[in-house]
Amino acid sequence: MSPERIVVVGASLGAVSFIDRLRRRGGRQRITLIGAEIHLPYDRPPLSKQFLADATPTLLKPAEWYAEQEVELRLGVAATELRTDPFAVVAGGERVEADQVVIATGARARTLPGVVGRPGLYQLRELDDAVRLAAALGSPGRMVVLGAGFIGLEVSAAAARRGWQVIVLERAESPLARVLGADVGRLCVRSHLREGVELRCGASVTSLTGDTTVEGVRLDDGTDIPADAVVVGIGAAPNTEWLRGSGVMVDNGVVCDAAGRASLPGVWAVGDVARWPNAVTGRHDRVEQWQAARDQGTVVADAMLGGSDAGWATPPYFWSDLFDAKVQFVGHCDPRARHHIVERGRRAVVIFGHDELEGVLSISAPRVLAMGRRLLTQGSSFEAAKVWAAGMLPPADGD
Ligand code: FAD
Ligand code: NAP
Repeated sequence: MSPERIVVVGASLGAVSFIDRLRRRGGRQRITLIGAEIHLPYDRPPLSKQFLADATPTLLKPAEWYAEQEVELRLGVAATELRTDPFAVVAGGERVEADQVVIATGARARTLPGVVGRPGLYQLRELDDAVRLAAALGSPGRMVVLGAGFIGLEVSAAAARRGWQVIVLERAESPLARVLGADVGRLCVRSHLREGVELRCGASVTSLTGDTTVEGVRLDDGTDIPADAVVVGIGAAPNTEWLRGSGVMVDNGVVCDAAGRASLPGVWAVGDVARWPNAVTGRHDRVEQWQAARDQGTVVADAMLGGSDAGWATPPYFWSDLFDAKVQFVGHCDPRARHHIVERGRRAVVIFGHDELEGVLSISAPRVLAMGRRLLTQGSSFEAAKVWAAGMLPPADGD
């Protein structure tokens, strides 16, 4: 009998994590990896951080790894269809037959309508976007960043460090409002304000100015803000369009069970494109975070090989580098939840929750996070976590 054929779509972190785990556990299936970008899978978080200073990409695995693991690579070609008659992925007009399909197509940057590719305008999702932006950062000038989410805040920090005069425009009333809520969002941008980045919230951009080259933005009150570069960081959307008509259930991402199975037998999904239940948070969310994509890749490999259907049982985690502040978060954050802030100098701990503890954030206090993760996994009341947080920041030099 010939081995099973697995087609993994999206040459991404979730894909590599899945393949790595499958092979480490002795899975001998034939694997084809289809990726829309021409690049070998690379790490995305550095693109808004050190890559903007050194333009050096970080590959997830060296080129020879794919040959060693007997992975057939089809890069630079997008999957356009998932067929079930028989089971196959269509990419570049060719059918690639499969017994199992792992969807790892991630998300793409949201853009402003009708403005893709104009000189002076930048977005940041892929390596090619980062190459373009890093090159532009070499000649400092005035930058306007749309969106005070993580892309906007990390890019504005990188640009300010390279000598740019930066204004960040956010539509909401505070930075990171949707992710962390207003109070904690403001806490996270203190280093931006100290370093001279201007932040304007409640700002609504109606259009870009300039003819062929973007020369700035116009606000809804008629104000023009001139800029040599405009960076758009207004969120991401899951890449699910190619699944239309396949029968795979999509509702803000591919809907999955606790082990990553989609609604059609033989189809699995991981990472930014997928909506999974999490055993610790009790939520069924699409989580756009590095650690989730990696964890979900391993869970799918384990479930496919059998013997483990443990599901995704680690609390979601993300980090961000905002100048010298390391922001880390574990758990689930409902921005409308109760929160309690403990601050000491530039360090802070924030707990989120209702009656129970639901999330822990730390700023430049990495040890807090490991303990917070334990508290979340074991379960703690919000009140008990408040007492814990109060003792977590002993005085340190520089406070
Ligand atoms: P993705 O990384 O989204 O990759 C999906 C791949 O699939 C892409 O290469 C895409 O081109 C390809 N693809 C799409 N459609 C098709 C198709 N039809 N056929 C074939 N291929 C297709 N998270 C953190 O926790 N901390 C951070 O500091 C952090 N920093 C980030 C910085 C940046 C600039 C970005 C963009 C993201 C950052 N993230 C961070 C988020 C993290 O990188 C993502 O959660 C993670 O990359 C998701 O991995 P994924 O496996 O879902 O796929
Ligand atoms: P994001 O976190 O969704 O933030 C986008 C921000 O832009 C939101 O505050 C949004 O407000 C605002 N916005 C939307 N439309 C706007 C407009 N027209 N004008 C001004 N502001 C507008 O998304 P992102 O920062 O672009 O990041 C994209 C993806 O990369 C996400 O998956 C993110 O997780 C990932 N990423 C993660 C990290 C990290 O974890 N450290 C770093 C970089 C990127 P509303 O919510 O009101 O729409």
